[in-house]
Amino acid sequence: MKGFAIREQMNGVEEPPGKTWFWELEAGVILADRCVQCGTCVAVCPSNSIGVRDETGLPQLVKMCTGCSLCWDFCPRGGLRYEALWPPSTPSGDDDVPVVTRSDAADPYWKITGGPPGDGLGAVLERYAARAAKRLDGAQDGGVVTALLLAALGAGDIDGALVSRPSTDRDEPWKGVAHVATTPQEILESAGSFYNQTMALAELDLSAYELPPRPRLAVVGTPCEIQGIRAMQSRRWPTGAHRVDAVVLTIALLCTKSFDYEALTLRELHDKRGVDIERVGKVDVIHGRMIVEYRDGTVAVDEPIKDFHGAALKGCDECADFLGRGADISVGSVGSMAGWSSVLVRTEAGLAAFDRARGRLDVRDLDDPEALLKLDRLDKRVAERSLQRKLDPDAPLFIDYAEHLSAYAGTDRAPVVLDR
Ligand SMILES: Cc1cc2nc3c(=O)[nH]c(=O)nc-3n(C[C@H](O)[C@H](O)[C@H](O)COP(=O)(O)OP(=O)(O)OC[C@H]3O[C@@H](n4cnc5c(N)ncnc54)[C@H](O)[C@@H]3O)c2cc1C
Ligand code: SF4
Ligand code: SF4
Repeated sequence: MKGFAIREQMNGVEEPPGKTWFWELEAGVILADRCVQCGTCVAVCPSNSIGVRDETGLPQLVKMCTGCSLCWDFCPRGGLRYEALWPPSTPSGDDDVPVVTRSDAADPYWKITGGPPGDGLGAVLERYAARAAKRLDGAQDGGVVTALLLAALGAGDIDGALVSRPSTDRDEPWKGVAHVATTPQEILESAGSFYNQTMALAELDLSAYELPPRPRLAVVGTPCEIQGIRAMQSRRWPTGAHRVDAVVLTIALLCTKSFDYEALTLRELHDKRGVDIERVGKVDVIHGRMIVEYRDGTVAVDEPIKDFHGAALKGCDECADFLGRGADISVGSVGSMAGWSSVLVRTEAGLAAFDRARGRLDVRDLDDPEALLKLDRLDKRVAERSLQRKLDPDAPLFIDYAEHLSAYAGTDRAPVVLDR
């Protein structure tokens, strides 16, 4: 291939030790079916050598790899030790509130490869159950994420927000695709959850958007995407065309699992169950069940989530960051009643954004923080078992589903997690 001619000329030339090439990321993560489609490798590559393969939605080399190693170093399934990016947990000072300090001061960061388990909710300045005071069409839970973005955009704190919106491709109904929303209308049209990954951080090449020369963006993403942002922000390598410098606010969606679009939506829902995807109004995972509703309110699917195991991203098993600990604000459904969102405000930037939106929100105490803690512990156990199984493929990946269900006792919420 023409682009690789220089590589051929370099054959036999001694290279510095310790270089990692894209092909190694490809072999160790992408071809090994461990990629979680966060887009970090695309965004971090200083020579813009990595793109997104149309057919698979996975990273691919689009021009010469220089062996800079950054794609491997910053990949959450590669060399990134993302838990090292988590800020220290915050003591709550309130006896009624679960402990949120670290369990081992000598080793301040939990290690997935050993050491004390992560504890508490991570760094939390304030925590609430909240919902948009005016119900927002299409919102997944309380519509808090959409309200936060509308308030920040309206106040001029941001110029846009990296979100997911429905694909306009007729062959991809109900597929979320990454998009930088720059108007209130676009933010509203992006409300709701898509249970597929979007290679979101690849969209930080902002050349397709009309934005000021020094844009300020919010990023809404699954925790792995926030890990990528945090890693890139904390190591200021040049990142080619991708404007990581523009990100001023990060909002993590709580997440234990995402899905492959084709496997879930096209094969499981459309082909096997005859769901008319064009008519779908909401997909939710609640009470350990996958629930798909048409826009007219009719329930198309209501089945145990375990029936959809095969469609989940395998790399998610290794992820231990359900709570999105690196974000400015984490938002999810577990821990609060239906129609409300659980909100963990983690940083000063998050607090400023939340304060900006207060007038648009109903806010009250978080209903059930223990439900969040339980699911976080379970998520970490899955991650640890998953890694153990790499060493011993016969080791059971055992999840106590009864315990999992008790995580939301007292609320009408169920986490997105698979019993197995
Ligand atoms: C894959 C996935 C798994 C999840 N798992 C859990 C879970 O286990 N437990 C839990 O409590 N909550 C989970 N959530 C979060 C939950 O579904 C809601 O997104 C959250 O409660 C916010 O609701 P809201 O009404 O405040 O947000 P909304 O106002 O509806 O806004 C949601 C925002 O998220 C953006 N978005 C939607 N899908 C994606 C995506 N795939 N990637 C990036 N951005 C996206 C939208 O564009 C929108 O801006 C998950 C979400 C996703 C996408
Ligand atoms: S997990 Fe993210 S960084 Fe790693 S290969 Fe996949 S898209 Fe790239
Ligand atoms: S489970 Fe982890 S790796 Fe998978 S989508 Fe969610 S945050 Fe990303």
